[in-house]
Amino acid sequence: MTFDEAALCESLKKNIIKTGYVKPTPVQKYGIPIISAGRDIMACAQTGSGKTAAFLLPILQQLMADGVAASSFSELQEPEAIIVAPTRELISQIYLEARKFAFGTCVRPVVVYGGVSTGHQIRDILRGCNVLCGTPGRLLDVIGRGKIGCSKLQYLVLDEADRMLDMGFEPDMRRLVASPGMQSKENRQTLMFSATYPEDIQRLAADFLKTDYLFLA
Ligand code: AMP
Repeated sequence: MTFDEAALCESLKKNIIKTGYVKPTPVQKYGIPIISAGRDIMACAQTGSGKTAAFLLPILQQLMADGVAASSFSELQEPEAIIVAPTRELISQIYLEARKFAFGTCVRPVVVYGGVSTGHQIRDILRGCNVLCGTPGRLLDVIGRGKIGCSKLQYLVLDEADRMLDMGFEPDMRRLVASPGMQSKENRQTLMFSATYPEDIQRLAADFLKTDYLFLA
């Protein structure tokens, strides 16, 4: 699969060219068609493998194909996708990549992370939010404040899951998937990425993914 052959709309392809990506990396080549087909995945992929575009492109493609309403101001935002990563640096990179790919489309990504005041992040959310990128604690915070509803959620992405466990985020991840109104695993598509695949990650995959999930290594 080349980017040109991928089932992606013209505006996404244009934005891919603008980012300077010419050839898909292996995780993009194999991951994009599987994610586009609606399957849950557990992918062993390192930072630097191109995993961010591997999950963002099929998600953005689907949201655009669904014709998600261009986000507008509302006191409650119901994102179609939530992406979770362990650190401010990582989630900010994911958000910036999402913004590049979503440029000129109706999809609006927003980022939230801890260590800074919540006020301006909430204001950003209320201006419209289709793809919410966040660190675990701050995501729980904005959901707990009633600013984010999960009833429209189609995609949940857990990136660097092994690092999230190492950093003690397992209870937060479990609270997140058990948030009020959260779509059950049968009713959402869940994508997990991890550099390693120890027992605790296997247990998390079994709990968060559909039983027929695909393992990509
Ligand atoms: P990631 O593993 O998603 O953090 O990506 C690692 C780096 O590779 C980032 O700087 C991306 O912008 C870049 N990258 C991802 N996919 C491609 C591609 N197909 N061609 C060139 N660079 C890429």
